[in-house]
Amino acid sequence: MNSIHMDPFIRSEREADIAVRSDRLAMTFAERAAEHDRDGSFPFENFDDLREAGYLKLTVPAGFGGEEASLYEMLLAQERLAKGDGSTALAVGWHVSQMLQLRIKQSWPPKLYEEFCRRAVDEGAMINQFASEPSTGSPSRGGRPQTTAVRTEGGYLLSGRKTFSSLLPVLDQFTVTAYVEDEEKIGTFYVRRGPGISMEETWNTMGMRATGSHDLLLADVFVPEEERLDQWEGNDGSALGTSKSDHGGALLHIPACYLGIAWAARDFAVRFAAEYRPSSLPGPIADLPHIRHKIGEMESERITARTLLYSVADRWDRLPDARPSMKPELGLAKTVATNAALRIVDLAMRIVGGSSLSRTLPLERMYRDVRAGLHNPPMEDAVGAMLAQRAIGEAADI
Ligand SMILES: Cc1cc2nc3c(=O)[nH]c(=O)nc-3n(C[C@H](O)[C@H](O)[C@H](O)COP(=O)(O)OP(=O)(O)OC[C@H]3O[C@@H](n4cnc5c(N)ncnc54)[C@H](O)[C@@H]3O)c2cc1C
Repeated sequence: MNSIHMDPFIRSEREADIAVRSDRLAMTFAERAAEHDRDGSFPFENFDDLREAGYLKLTVPAGFGGEEASLYEMLLAQERLAKGDGSTALAVGWHVSQMLQLRIKQSWPPKLYEEFCRRAVDEGAMINQFASEPSTGSPSRGGRPQTTAVRTEGGYLLSGRKTFSSLLPVLDQFTVTAYVEDEEKIGTFYVRRGPGISMEETWNTMGMRATGSHDLLLADVFVPEEERLDQWEGNDGSALGTSKSDHGGALLHIPACYLGIAWAARDFAVRFAAEYRPSSLPGPIADLPHIRHKIGEMESERITARTLLYSVADRWDRLPDARPSMKPELGLAKTVATNAALRIVDLAMRIVGGSSLSRTLPLERMYRDVRAGLHNPPMEDAVGAMLAQRAIGEAADI
């Protein structure tokens, strides 16, 4: 029986097809992962494969030729992709999650949105948002960007530096946040690669080394008035962050990615335990009680995290009206999954023993990669604060 039949979270033929495609891509990416990790190089060939496999239209609306995947389906696809290479999964995850988010929010000018969706389907165009900066830190904290947008004839001139710009090596367009000084407001802009744009190859981290998350430099980059995106949000009277927001649902691609990496580590360790027969023992180490205990712990972490992740995603898909109240659970699913992923990879390495430290095995890369999950949004303290605020509010109503 293969992993598709054994996965209790696959509920339909369509989901099985989505899973099979990701498994197939993951097998190819796994062969390239060590080299890109070692060199910190961007896996362009993985993105050619994703494009060819139709993966880049996963969450694009069916009306524009996309697959219109639900949140649940996107997570199944992303988790399995990350089994092969966490960096590629996280990087493409920004694109597919933003296409899902845009489908819900409808926050772009309609003509631009349709044009981009069609390009995603026909050419494999991708998008990501660049909001992080050296001095503002995580955009999830709401800090004011140092990047500025200055009004000029017919549009704006953007200048500044964005950090952590995942996917940048392969993008021809992206969205950028900037402070619009004459309005004292943060704006969001659709920026096309062109004059004034450059990339500084700053990304040299311990984990997620192949995400290409370099610095984006903008020097008086012209953006036409009609490609300022935030002024479209809420044009129909609905306030941004209420009826048309995804309330953070699409961000669940992040925990799916880290659980996928942990899944691969778990598979590796369990296989190793079944095969490794040191001369001091009559059979494989999988027969030892302390190894079984560790395998049991990995399973308990993995099943708990997946159950929470997929049940929250299912609820988000089925109950749009409940989304505004789901933010604490969405955040909890992320923190539970990323902490579980850290624990699972750690246990996998303890099972394998000293050889798990070897660069010839994939575990040490997975150990470094899952660490990045702590620094993707929402942050753990913010999730704790949301849960506490809700509990305290409920107590006041009793
Ligand atoms: C692999 C990877 C890919 C990424 N890709 C992207 C991307 O494509 N686009 C993008 O825009 N960003 C991206 N990011 C950036 C990410 O969203 C964060 O901006 C970045 O990780 C910095 O987060 P931080 O919490 O360490 O930063 P900071 O906000 O600078 O925080 C530093 C420390 O101060 C604390 N702190 C700071 N402010 C507050 C506050 N107000 N309240 C409480 N505590 C605070 C934090 O808890 C932390 O301990 C990526 C990050 C990673 C790791």
